[in-house]
Amino acid sequence: MPRLLLRHADAIYVCDDARRVIRDGYIFVEDGRIAAVGAEPAPAVAADEEISLAGSLVTPGFVNIHHHLYQTLTRAVPLANRASILDWLYAMYPVWAEIDADAYYWAALANSSELLASGCTTNADFAYLMPEHNGEMAAEELRGVREAGIRFVLVRGGMPTVEADLESRLRPLMGAQLDRLLDREDELFPKLESTIRRHHDTSAGAMVQVAIGPTSVTYVRPQFMRRFSDLAREHACGLHVHFDPRPDEHETMRARGGKPIGFLRESGWLWERTWFAHSTLLNDDEMRAIGDAGASIAHCPHCIIRLGKKAARLGHWRAHGINVGIGVDGPASSDTSNMLNELRLAMMLHRVGGYEDSEPAGQWLTPEDVLWMATRGGARALGRDDIGQLAPGKAADIAAFPLRRLSMAGAVLDPLAALLMAGADPYASLTVVNGRVRARDGHMVDVDEMRAFDGCNSAARRLFDAARRRTGMDFSKHV
Ligand SMILES: [Zn+2]
Repeated sequence: MPRLLLRHADAIYVCDDARRVIRDGYIFVEDGRIAAVGAEPAPAVAADEEISLAGSLVTPGFVNIHHHLYQTLTRAVPLANRASILDWLYAMYPVWAEIDADAYYWAALANSSELLASGCTTNADFAYLMPEHNGEMAAEELRGVREAGIRFVLVRGGMPTVEADLESRLRPLMGAQLDRLLDREDELFPKLESTIRRHHDTSAGAMVQVAIGPTSVTYVRPQFMRRFSDLAREHACGLHVHFDPRPDEHETMRARGGKPIGFLRESGWLWERTWFAHSTLLNDDEMRAIGDAGASIAHCPHCIIRLGKKAARLGHWRAHGINVGIGVDGPASSDTSNMLNELRLAMMLHRVGGYEDSEPAGQWLTPEDVLWMATRGGARALGRDDIGQLAPGKAADIAAFPLRRLSMAGAVLDPLAALLMAGADPYASLTVVNGRVRARDGHMVDVDEMRAFDGCNSAARRLFDAARRRTGMDFSKHV
């Protein structure tokens, strides 16, 4: 593995507990790990490659903790453009039901590359829709991920039912194909267990790990939720689920004499290896319970805007001690997968709300807060202390961003504020994963980007054509 010496970075945000910033700094990388980091002059070491980062800001590589890679194939769909959640799913499920292993490969290759180009070095993909027989889709997804070279958590999920009245709306159109979306409990858990046994690496510096979870909380099936948490504990892997209890779900639990958050506690889901997605509707009791349990939340601001959800109350979450990470979410509900832009939105979105609904300005996030979420916060959510920080012994996952851009002219006081508040360029100038340079100036070093692009588009067209033939739906129609 090459020894890298990165030199003369304007500012290195190491994200240690003291949140130190090193001016005019260097980083020496050996065997996939950080060997030394500090202020120039760098020690005299034998490096295979020396890269000047003058004019750049350096951070730990970003950790994306909520994604759905397969949705790369259903971006910017006119039929779903102005749809809120249930109509959006109505437009998406017929296409997603056509997914196959080849589609998983292209989506993983193209989108992992897009993430890397934006400074993201670890991606947790919530693959709750994986209608495979013997691990062939997970294998193809991992092939795409490994070709791109990103660190990866395969959150192998499952979907026992479709939401609300979607079964009765979609069954007449999709027929038996609808069942391809749904997992039977007796078939799902052996698949989860075999995915864990095949791919879950618990060693420090692991490039691939596995976590598990259903797409949403199944309030009427406590045993189903309990089986996930038992399996996660047995194999030391994380738990993940979309958790955003709606009024009807509160009502369901009230009728059973409980609450959604109590249900999670009883099912073994409130512990430090759980991270929830979205959670924009939480009340104070729920926030307190999640914070006390040491669990985490994936904040996905772009999706909130795209689907017209309520802005998450970041200041309240943090006041309750909740660990927060950032997720780009699936490209069907955010259309984009640029991690740097997601940080920029995360810093701003929670300020929206008008006079009464706004969080106090004293709780608004700073650029340092957002960087922390995207690095240490994400690492903690995934149960890892080997990433998210630039320190000797940690994984050499590094991102550098150019500061000498017209959009940042005049922003001379704070490089990170310049990047996140004034910067408009969405790409990293350098992305290193496990000690290897994966992207430079927003482009992949080892991946033929146009091959990935064309492969993705062919797979997307194939899915839309199949869904159109089966259902008669016109996905290109704006509604
Ligand atoms: Zn999601």
